Amino acid sequence: MNMKEYIEEAEGALLHTYNRYQVVFDKGEDVYLYDLEGKKYLDFVSGIGVFALGYHDEAYNDALKKQIDKIIHTSNYYYNVPAIEAAKAIKKASGMDRVFFTNSGAEAIEGAIKTARKYAYLKDGSTDHEIIAFEHSFHGRTMGALSITGTKKYREAFEPGIGNIKFAELNDIESVKNCLSDKTCAIILETVQGEGGIRPAKEEFLKQLRELCDAKDILLIFDEIQCGMGRTGSMFAWQKFGIKPDVMTSAKALGCGVPVGAFMMTEKAGQSSLVAGDHGTTYGGNPLACAAVCQVMKEFEEKDILKNVQEVGAYLWDKLEEVKSHHSEIIDHRGVGMIQGLEFDGPVAEKINAALAKGLVLINAGTNIIRIMPPLVISKKHVDEMIGILEECL
Ligand SMILES: *Cc1c(COP(=O)(O)O)cnc(C)c1O
Repeated sequence: MNMKEYIEEAEGALLHTYNRYQVVFDKGEDVYLYDLEGKKYLDFVSGIGVFALGYHDEAYNDALKKQIDKIIHTSNYYYNVPAIEAAKAIKKASGMDRVFFTNSGAEAIEGAIKTARKYAYLKDGSTDHEIIAFEHSFHGRTMGALSITGTKKYREAFEPGIGNIKFAELNDIESVKNCLSDKTCAIILETVQGEGGIRPAKEEFLKQLRELCDAKDILLIFDEIQCGMGRTGSMFAWQKFGIKPDVMTSAKALGCGVPVGAFMMTEKAGQSSLVAGDHGTTYGGNPLACAAVCQVMKEFEEKDILKNVQEVGAYLWDKLEEVKSHHSEIIDHRGVGMIQGLEFDGPVAEKINAALAKGLVLINAGTNIIRIMPPLVISKKHVDEMIGILEECL
């Protein structure tokens, strides 16, 4: 079958939950993707922040193959070495004390929500606790994660959600205080909002949240599913500010393609929340997924990924500032490291399609924002190549 025929098959078989771009990607090499017809594309999406190490990384592939030949799955009722090693590596990288592996980002969010509710329940025995989340946030598609997602169009048809959620404005501490009550058990936010428009939380705001949570014994939860794992130039975005959450989530680049997520917490949160029987998963943290995590963590160190993100990310920032300076339709440029966004004065879909036709993969965040989220291994020459094509599309 050719590409067009495959796309027709797909439209006949898959549920129509995505407006897919008219391309079937077949393989990847470094930071390039190839479609079924052999056309080459520069990838500035990395599968929405997943394939941080680039495609066809030999050491990564070998680590997975080796694990496949050993054992892929056991059960969380038994220990397995990759999960132990992966948890150790995550603890070291995050400074958190306890790790629970999930299969996806949304599941990590569910775990974080359950942790917060249980923490508060153990204190006062009541079951009407509230969570403060933020406008423009995105936390996933399961019912709990959806309930704390700030963009109403994602939620509306599926109401009622889990309930007792209040939405505040990012970087506005007064709006948070207005949502606060004696029932608040957690404040949850993306350290850099991704899907909702590449909006970084400010250091001062995070500090104020930390103080508020400390004063009221409320859990502060950072969703680092998209902005974590080196994307901002720090392993986790909050580390740049030194404002530590009580609970945090990771996924996307954590396994670089093998489905795996995690929620992590401090010893204090771990000691007074979930216990045996409270939470579980069949697949979560299986040996294959955790072998991927171990290898990703190893390569982040060996390749000094953070340094590359800092250097090339700064270069990318400067280049996008130049683009912005001579296109009045670009009304804002936000982000940090390799999670950046260009906000336009109208929809960007046509521009993204034009880029795709010219061999550049880009994606939106909301309707008016082009999200720039390349593999973390790109070099300046890839930035130049991207800018060249982007300019042609504007
Ligand atoms: C992608 C994302 C999620 C959901 O992750 P899934 O793996 O798609 O369930 C949650 N939070 C943030 C910030 C995300 O970017």
